[in-house]
Amino acid sequence: MVDQTVNVTLTEDTKQKPVAEQLEFGRVFTDHMFIMDYIEGKGWHNPRIVPYQPVTLDPAAIVFHYGQTVFEGLKAYVTKDGEARLFRPEKNMQRLNRSNERMCIPHLDEDVALNAIKQLVSLERDWIPTAPGTSLYIRPFIISTESYLGVAPSKTYQFLVILSPVGAYYKEGINPVKIAVEDEFVRAVKGGTGEAKTAGNYASSLKAQELVSDKGYAQVLWLDGLEKKYIEEVGSMNVFFKINGEVVTPALNGSILEGVTRNSVIRLLNHWDIPVAERKISMEEVYEAYEKGLLEEAFGAGTAAVISPIGELSWKGEQLIINDRVTGSVSKRLYDTLTGIQYGTEEDPFGWIEKVK
Ligand SMILES: *Cc1c(COP(=O)(O)O)cnc(C)c1O
Repeated sequence: MVDQTVNVTLTEDTKQKPVAEQLEFGRVFTDHMFIMDYIEGKGWHNPRIVPYQPVTLDPAAIVFHYGQTVFEGLKAYVTKDGEARLFRPEKNMQRLNRSNERMCIPHLDEDVALNAIKQLVSLERDWIPTAPGTSLYIRPFIISTESYLGVAPSKTYQFLVILSPVGAYYKEGINPVKIAVEDEFVRAVKGGTGEAKTAGNYASSLKAQELVSDKGYAQVLWLDGLEKKYIEEVGSMNVFFKINGEVVTPALNGSILEGVTRNSVIRLLNHWDIPVAERKISMEEVYEAYEKGLLEEAFGAGTAAVISPIGELSWKGEQLIINDRVTGSVSKRLYDTLTGIQYGTEEDPFGWIEKVK
């Protein structure tokens, strides 16, 4: 058993912390980062916290050429009493290993990884912004570091965790966005890597995103890669539709990324006795519901925005205006409850909160 004590090297010059009003997403990083190495035969070893710094790799490192890499995304929040906490972080660690499995990256001990995150967040405690809606975004990731141009799994890796203070996603309350249904490009197909949080999925989504943002849309609604008929996700969020009193989300099918927020939304809806179904849902079905006046709400769900209501869907030249472009009551209730649990203003009936000492 390799020694798993985290060696800590503190920085000698701490950075200036950004002012809350100027925080963006993912532009500023804290003073320290976590790093741990993997070598085939030896396993994961040398966990350490070091000053935030560049990573130096051989130009032939596998990650640069073949993208053998995975990542996660979660947040640390601080309550008004000054308590730092994470939201369901064990779910992110489990998903990291599912992504590893798909990408032929060696498994990480989930407790070791979570403890690393907690220790780093605890050290950077003062970097968690306190203004309403702000948080400390946590980005764990693994890169393949072997210098080899053959297409094969790397024999060496690094696991890193970096932290970024982020602003409130919605500066003036949650606002419905315009979405374009994407009928040319696809995000993922069953059998591909859509279920894994791996770099290539995001690189391949940029083109569609670029084309629609030129036309004023916030994101694309992705359809399945085989028939381009069934709805999969919205941007890099899971998606929900409220039709005639029932909330429907696409069932996990091998190409959809299983969100922690998605799972939490389903749990809350069940808890509130609001009908919720995980099943196939086609764009035709959504359109028919819209025509009959039964499409009541639509929203994306993910860690960054929590709940992102959809006010307009553009599909085959038609503009579907949802709930008069106003945030629906279920979307609002989910947003308020999830953020309330995260920031400690609401009860946590499911034990989702994990405190950081
Ligand atoms: C990360 C991600 C989500 C949302 O997952 P959360 O755990 O809720 O943040 C959904 N879809 C894609 C493609 C993602 O990368």
